[in-house]
Amino acid sequence: MSHREPSELAREAGAKLREVLAAGPLNPKDRMAIPAQEMPVQDHVDRRGNMNEVALGYTPEQARLEAMRCLQCRNKPCVAGCPVAIDIPAFLKAVADGDPRAAIDIIRRNSLLPAVCGRVCPQESQCQEPCTVGKALKNVDKAVSIGRIERFAADMEAAAGTPDVPEVKPETGRRVAVIGSGPASITVAADVRREGHAVTVFEAFHKPGGVLLYGIPEFRLPKSIVEREIAALKAMGVVIRTNFVVGRTRKLSDLVSKDGFDAVFVGTGAGLPKFMGIPGENLVGVFSANEFLTRSNLMRAFDRARADTPICNCRKVAVLGGGNVAMDAARTAVRLGADEVHLVYRRTEAEMPARIEEVGHAKEEGVVFHTLVNAKRFLGDSYGCVRHMECLRYELGEPDNSGRRRPVEIPGSEFMMDLDTVIVAIGNESNPLIRQTTPGLGFNKWGNIVADDDGRTSLPNVFAGGDIVLGAATVILAMGQGRKAAQAINSMLAAAPKT
Ligand code: FAD
Ligand code: SF4
Ligand code: SF4
Repeated sequence: MSHREPSELAREAGAKLREVLAAGPLNPKDRMAIPAQEMPVQDHVDRRGNMNEVALGYTPEQARLEAMRCLQCRNKPCVAGCPVAIDIPAFLKAVADGDPRAAIDIIRRNSLLPAVCGRVCPQESQCQEPCTVGKALKNVDKAVSIGRIERFAADMEAAAGTPDVPEVKPETGRRVAVIGSGPASITVAADVRREGHAVTVFEAFHKPGGVLLYGIPEFRLPKSIVEREIAALKAMGVVIRTNFVVGRTRKLSDLVSKDGFDAVFVGTGAGLPKFMGIPGENLVGVFSANEFLTRSNLMRAFDRARADTPICNCRKVAVLGGGNVAMDAARTAVRLGADEVHLVYRRTEAEMPARIEEVGHAKEEGVVFHTLVNAKRFLGDSYGCVRHMECLRYELGEPDNSGRRRPVEIPGSEFMMDLDTVIVAIGNESNPLIRQTTPGLGFNKWGNIVADDDGRTSLPNVFAGGDIVLGAATVILAMGQGRKAAQAINSMLAAAPKT
C-alpha cells in the first residue's frame, strides 16, 4: 500500500472542495464522482521508531468532501450496521454542511465514545459494510468512511476545548458499584450518574480505562483520549477506586450486603490470555500478548531509561496469531526496536480476523507474515531463555464451526526458527476470580456471565455487560451493552425510590 504525503492530500482536497462548492447543489451522480478521501498517515519508516498515532485524521476539507459522498439513503442501511444505531446520514450531512459541532451532538445521542469508536471500530464489517456507495462501486473500501468522519467530528470537539460535562440530576441517595473501567463500565458509570445516583468504579489496575488503556497501543488510540473520558466521569462526580480487585480486595456480594450498594454492574472484560499448551511455553522470553502490551502501554516499558519494568531488548520476535491483538503486539515489538518481527498464523491471510488496515500497516512497518504455519514447541538455552521455535506447515481443509476452513497439519513439514522472544496472541477469556468468589452468579461453559438483553444476571440487582458477557468482542458492542444495562439499572432504581 503506498500512501501519499499528507500535505499533498490536503492541497488536493482543498482544491476539490472549492470546485464542488462552486458547482452548486449536488445530485447523486456528482456525489458518486467525488473521490474517496485517503487517510493521511505517518511515514512508515519514521513511525517504526515512535509510539505516535499512525493515522493523522482528515483535514476539514477532506472530512467535508468525504461526507458529501453520502447519498442520504432513505432506508439508511449503514445505521443497521452500527451496533448503537447512530443516525449516520444526519451526522454526515452536518459535516458536509461544515458543522462538525452539530455532527457530534447527533453522534453523542447514541455513543459516549466517538473519538475511540471512530478510531477502533471494525467499520468495514459494521456501518460501512452495507453502505450503498461501497456496494455501487463494488468495493467496501470505497464506502463512505463513516468512522473517519466520526473521528474528525470528535477531534474537532476536543480541539475546541473540554466538552461540556453532562448534566447530573439532583442526588437520589442511591449507590451503584461498577466493577472494571473499560468501555462497558465507562458507559454505565456516565449514564447512571446522569440520573443523580452515586457511582463508584472499582478497577483492579492502577489506572482506569480497561483495554482502551492497557491493550490497544498509543499508535492506534492515544491515551490522552481515554484520559479525557475518565476526566469527564470524575467531573460528573463518579468516584474511581483503583488497585481494587473485586473478589480479592472485597467480594462482590459484600458490596451489596455490607457496603450498601443498591446495584452492581460487572464489566470485568476478558483479560485472561489463552496459551498454546505446547512444550517450552514457560521459557523466559515467551509472553502473552496481554502481558507484553500491558507492560508497554500501562507500565510504559518502551521507555527503557525510566520504566520500572522495562521489557528486555528483543531482537528476533515471533508473534503467534492473526487478530488485532497479534497485529498490535507485532507493531509494538517493531517500535521497541526488534530487528525482525515474524507473524505466524496457521490459516491464510484471507481468514485473519484482524482489520485489513491493521494488516496493511503491519506489513508496511516490516512485519514478516508466515501463513499456514504454527508453533509445535519452543526450545531454550541453558539459562532457560527461549532461543528456537519448531514450526509445522499447514494446509486448509474443510470449513469448521466458525465457517472458516480448518488448518490441517502437513506431516513431516517441521522447520526451525531462531528467535529470542515469542508473543502468544491466540485469544483471551474471562478471569475466573469473580466466578470463584460469587456464589449464585450464573456463568456459561466459556466462563462468561449469563445476562439477558438488559444485562440482568441470575443475582438480584447485579448486572453485567461487555466482554465478560460476550467473550472477547469489540469496544462498540461493550459500550452498547453498557448503555442497555444502565437503562435497566436506572429503571430499577426509579421504580423503587429510596424511602
Ligand atoms: P475491558 O476493556 O476489558 O475492561 C475490563 C476492566 O475490568 C479492566 O480494566 C480490568 O482491569 C478490570 N477488572 C477485571 N477484573 C476485575 C476485578 N475483579 N476487579 C476490578 N476490576 C477488574 N475492539 C475494537 O472494537 N477494536 C479494536 O481495534 C480492538 N483492538 C483490541 C486490541 C487489543 C490488544 C485487545 C486486548 C482488545 C482489542 N479490542 C478491540 C477489544 C476491545 O478492547 C474489548 O472488546 C473492550 O475493551 C471490552 O470492554 P469491557 O468494558 O467489556 O472490558
Ligand atoms: Fe460505525 Fe462504530 Fe461509529 Fe457505529 S460507532 S457509526 S459502527 S464507527
Ligand atoms: Fe450515506 Fe452510505 Fe449510509 Fe447511504 S448507506 S446514508 S450512502 S453512509
